[in-house]
Formats: sequence, C-alpha cells, structure tokens
Amino acid sequence: MRVRVEDIPPEGLEVEFGDARVGAEDLGTQVAGLANAPWARLRLERRGSLVLARGDYQARVDLECSRCLARFGQTLAGTVEWAFRPPETPRGEEVRLAEDELDVIFYQGGEVDLAQALRDELSLALPMAPLCRPDCPGLCPVCGKEQQGGACGCRPKETDPRWAKLAKLEER
Ligand SMILES: [Zn+2]
Ligand SMILES: [Zn+2]
Repeated sequence: MRVRVEDIPPEGLEVEFGDARVGAEDLGTQVAGLANAPWARLRLERRGSLVLARGDYQARVDLECSRCLARFGQTLAGTVEWAFRPPETPRGEEVRLAEDELDVIFYQGGEVDLAQALRDELSLALPMAPLCRPDCPGLCPVCGKEQQGGACGCRPKETDPRWAKLAKLEER
C-alpha cells in the first residue's frame, strides 16, 4: 500500500489495507507462517512535506517455539505513530518534531510506503526467541523428544534439583 503525498487532502485521509503480498520470511526467521494478511487502519495528515500516520495494526502469525520447535499462533497488535519525511527538508520549511515520540521514516518519489512501514513494525514487535508457553520444557536432552504432554521416560543426565536436596539429606 503506497499513497502519493499529493493525494492526501488538507483535512487528512483515512486508509485501511491488508498486506497480502508480505511473506513470513519478510518478517523474521522465527515466523513459520502468516495466518492472515497483516492489516492496518491509519489516518494520514500532511504537515508541509511531512506525512504523519497514526492508527492501529493487527497480524496473526505462526511462530516456531525456540525451545520445543512446535508451531503456535500469536496475534500481534498495536498502535503506530509514524512520521514520513523526505530525505531532505525543503528549503524554508522548518520541521519541528518530537522525534523521540514518533518513528521517523524517510520516503522517496513523492509517496509513502505504508505496507513496508507495517512490515518493519511487525518485525520489531516479534519476540526474538518465541515460546509456545512461558514454561515450555523444551526437548528432552537425551532423546530429543518433546517433553511437553508427558515425559519420554529418559533419565535426565543432570541431577534434578529436587533429588539434589534428597541426596543432601542422605549425606547426613
Ligand atoms: Zn515450546
Ligand atoms: Zn527423552
């Protein structure tokens, strides 16, 4: 979704789009698939050569658990405040931006690329090491099987802390 800056009227412009062209690999290696097209609803406003975009986004992604490698779905949703600006501020135009409150994105060719901005936003919103659940036990260090939903019966190589306590009692 690209919007020509000159097409944004003085009163602003509401846009809503689904990015059907984005692939899982565009967002991050931890993304196994996309359950639907990432979606956003934004309000665009012009301030001289600046374009401010505010709104909401949502995406449903399939992630791969970094411990047990199982796939699970997760919804990414949030609000954005983007400030698109040309690489060079036109002469005579003073840009005053609370830059730490807005994400500044450069645009070229007279149009803002909302789909690309959304992809970047989603990449940042993704967990670096996804977990299917906070206490995922991961894979068995002995046989490599998923430990979730029933033990495989292997004896752990390392001493379980609970047994360590018992061992201490026996020493006495
Ligand atoms: Zn897991
Ligand atoms: Zn095992």
